[in-house]
Amino acid sequence: MGRPDYQLVVFDLDFTVWDAGGVWCDCLRPPFRSSGDQVHDSRGSLVKVYDDIHWALDFLEERGVELGVASRTEQPDWARELLDLLGLRGRFAFEEIYPSSKVRHFSALKEKSGYAYGEMLFFDDEHRNIEEVGGLGVRSVLVRNGFRRELFESEFGL
Ligand SMILES: [Mg+2]
Repeated sequence: MGRPDYQLVVFDLDFTVWDAGGVWCDCLRPPFRSSGDQVHDSRGSLVKVYDDIHWALDFLEERGVELGVASRTEQPDWARELLDLLGLRGRFAFEEIYPSSKVRHFSALKEKSGYAYGEMLFFDDEHRNIEEVGGLGVRSVLVRNGFRRELFESEFGL
């Protein structure tokens, strides 16, 4: 009864990695500007990464686990710019950012990474994504009220 040996951990963006001022990032209004570790849009909405994300990415990088993003945002360029401005862009080896069922995102992740679905772990705040990706055989964890360390720890037996 060993715990799966995860090789690739994949994060949704909106309401999983960040809170874009209470809306999806495709509802923001560019241009964006960064101030410290936060980003504002042109109307002053604040994009903030959940605190425990940095801890989780550090944990995974230290263990050589690869990182990916799967987002179905309507504004992929904005999402990539936000990742840049928030200092997260280089940390994800795989970025699948476009509108579609996330089954497509994970098919691409499997193809590009060479990992099996059973070697992947996925965090997302929407039931529809958890159900669809979970149906592929990817361990899929529902995030409520933003990513938190506790969700992650139970997956790694910490
Ligand atoms: Mg989301």
